[in-house]
Amino acid sequence: MPTDRLRLNDGHMIPTLGLGIWQVPADRTADTVATALGLGYRLVDGAAIYGNEAGLGEGLRQSGLPRDEVFVTTKVWNDDQGHDSTLRAVEGSLARLGLDRLDLCLIHWPVPARDRYLDTWRALIRLRDEGRVRSIGVSNFMASHLERLVGETGVVPVLNQIEMNPRLQQTSLRALHDRMGIVSQSWTPLGQGRSFTAAPVLAVAARTGKSPAQVILRWHLQLGASVIPRSTRADGLAENVRLFDFDLTDGEMAAMAALDEGARCGPDPATFA
Ligand code: NAD
Repeated sequence: MPTDRLRLNDGHMIPTLGLGIWQVPADRTADTVATALGLGYRLVDGAAIYGNEAGLGEGLRQSGLPRDEVFVTTKVWNDDQGHDSTLRAVEGSLARLGLDRLDLCLIHWPVPARDRYLDTWRALIRLRDEGRVRSIGVSNFMASHLERLVGETGVVPVLNQIEMNPRLQQTSLRALHDRMGIVSQSWTPLGQGRSFTAAPVLAVAARTGKSPAQVILRWHLQLGASVIPRSTRADGLAENVRLFDFDLTDGEMAAMAALDEGARCGPDPATFA
């Protein structure tokens, strides 16, 4: 079932599977979101920088679903980091979405060169306490950023959204998340298709009749991660929710582990500004 959920460390629940809307054109976002929600998606991953928050909100309203049935995430962009600028940025996101509350708000990148993520985090704590945001988390944080954030503020993010796919398995960061009580959520989960023809993926696909994309998405879920694939096509959206009627065996999970090369598709969070 696409509505499987994980418990966050603040007691709220998050669907394991969601729709990512990076690079979904603004004028197609409402339709894409409404189609996905009709297919059973219950989480949409947006961000201010994606330029399509209005479409996300519109798609939610088009779906006819009650607000409480859909989990909406957005993110504070790098240029808005800092205490007061974060308060303004989140109010801007809420206005564009047409919502009075976010389910989850993330700091999009740590941007250590600017060193504002502690003030940004304090603003998110305030917005959570005021009820504008139900849960707060981070994205692209490395171990040192997480440890400093928690050491300075005492507030543990509910989730860290990180690049993860078969070629970048993030084993040590996921182990830290487990120790700290942080949910791992995988961005670019399909890894730009670079593992679609890898032998362990094809072996599971042949055994189960599933596609390489479904095998990889299922692998994320079995690692305990939440996953947010993107598609704008109805058949792709439908394919990516059919993940709950098969399993990778322990041996197949071990074979997948061997695909890790530590290779990123996206920027390095230590330097990205
Ligand atoms: P993705 O791994 O979801 O892959 C998307 C690509 O795969 C698209 O080209 C799509 O057409 C194709 N695809 C989708 N389903 C397929 C299928 N079943 N078979 C074959 N091809 C398929 O990549 P993404 O969009 O980069 O990442 C997912 C989401 O993660 C984004 O939309 C965004 O919400 C989030 N994200 C976050 C960050 C961050 O810094 N926090 C960075 C990048 C992405």
